[in-house]
Amino acid sequence: EKKIKRIDRAKDKSRVREKDSERLKVEENVFDVPTLKILYTLSNKGIIKAMGGAISTGKEANVFYAEGPDKELAVKIYRIASSTFKAMDAYIMKDPRFTNIRNNKRDIIFAWTRKEFQNLKRAKNAGVRVPEPVIAEKNILIMEFMGEKERPYPLLKNTYLEDDEAKLIFDTVVEYMRLLYKKANLVHADLSEYNILIDPKDLTPIFIDMGQSVTLEHPNSREFLYRDVQNILRFFSRYGIKDKPEELLKKIQAE
Ligand code: ADP
Ligand code: MN
Repeated sequence: EKKIKRIDRAKDKSRVREKDSERLKVEENVFDVPTLKILYTLSNKGIIKAMGGAISTGKEANVFYAEGPDKELAVKIYRIASSTFKAMDAYIMKDPRFTNIRNNKRDIIFAWTRKEFQNLKRAKNAGVRVPEPVIAEKNILIMEFMGEKERPYPLLKNTYLEDDEAKLIFDTVVEYMRLLYKKANLVHADLSEYNILIDPKDLTPIFIDMGQSVTLEHPNSREFLYRDVQNILRFFSRYGIKDKPEELLKKIQAE
């Protein structure tokens, strides 16, 4: 029970904001007319029943809560207007799945959104716990909401853990990295305590934010994997986990 309380506290921190109050002012440049049109169409198709409050406002995208016909949803909307997409080029242009994307911002964002959808699908199929993607339409990605009753699960970063709990999570994170690499042919490429949620019921990690994930054919995939490994080891070192990056790489790349 103590454990649950601690995690609840962390959950409170990442609680979905009140439904309407803050939403409009924060989201002015998210809901442009084309984006509203897509949301309207998705709602007519019965994919979204109702939009809820903002969960997160990031550098490139905003995430909202929504009700689906049969389950809770997360709606990630990449902003066309107010984002810097320079960094995206490096990830998408050299990915063999996306070589014929025209070099303008809208097309790159749309491709990026499709790429995140595909990456989540591949990860899911490989046995990695991720939000199940529902649909990608232009700059909007709809996926399974990872949380309960409008409250997203806490980020790994905000979860208080005992050493033995952290070790359990660490082992699963490494196993997920191996499944991604071996079965999904993917490297997450932005893996850290900021892109892993924790399910408080069983302490399983959930990988999120896979727009930048690349296939192993990408010329920088090994470098990205090494960076992921270093981020994960840096975070878990505070719980007494002292594996060497080389050992971890071996585990991930093992047959
Ligand atoms: P960003 O590119 O802005 O970092 P993320 O995909 O990491 O976008 O999402 C931002 C935040 O939104 C996450 O830290 C998490 O709190 C929340 N979030 C994202 N996807 C989901 C989801 N499927 N279910 C619940 N919360 C989510
Ligand atoms: Mn993120």
